[in-house]
Amino acid sequence: MEEEDIFIDPPNVDEIIESIKKCRTMKDINDLLYEIYPKWIVIYLEKYSDDYPQLQSNWEKITEQYNIKKCQMVIVQKIVNDDKHTLTNIFAEIYTRAGFIVRTKDEIIPCEKCFSAIPNIETYENMKKSGMPVPERWLRVCEKCLPILIEEKEKRERQKSKTIDEED
Ligand SMILES: [Zn+2]
Repeated sequence: MEEEDIFIDPPNVDEIIESIKKCRTMKDINDLLYEIYPKWIVIYLEKYSDDYPQLQSNWEKITEQYNIKKCQMVIVQKIVNDDKHTLTNIFAEIYTRAGFIVRTKDEIIPCEKCFSAIPNIETYENMKKSGMPVPERWLRVCEKCLPILIEEKEKRERQKSKTIDEED
């Protein structure tokens, strides 16, 4: 069975667009969004991983160009560009204009350790092909976070075996 599309425009879409027009702050927008699509936003991230400096500086350049304050990255469930999903597209547009960057959870993976944004492997491959600075190989974590994660994992395992020893 196909998964039900919960981000499709509701029947009262025109009414909601009127409510959006009445919003005065991003908090109003945010409250309205949560009322309509409580599950759309997955997580807010602060920045791109240091392994992808070009993505971070592109984002900064855009906000400078439009003279807007750089806000957070908004990771959403999905964005469908058709006329059945006008509302989610309007919300994405509003967030973008306010200095946020909107990406889907398929496009961006938060680093397990520091929650910086890591592009998916397809984006990584394309960046690599076009000669942009990227790590040697694609990882789900930042290069600098990897040794820390490995160390933490080893520590947990040492503790686990210690507890088992003590139980004996
Ligand atoms: Zn990290």
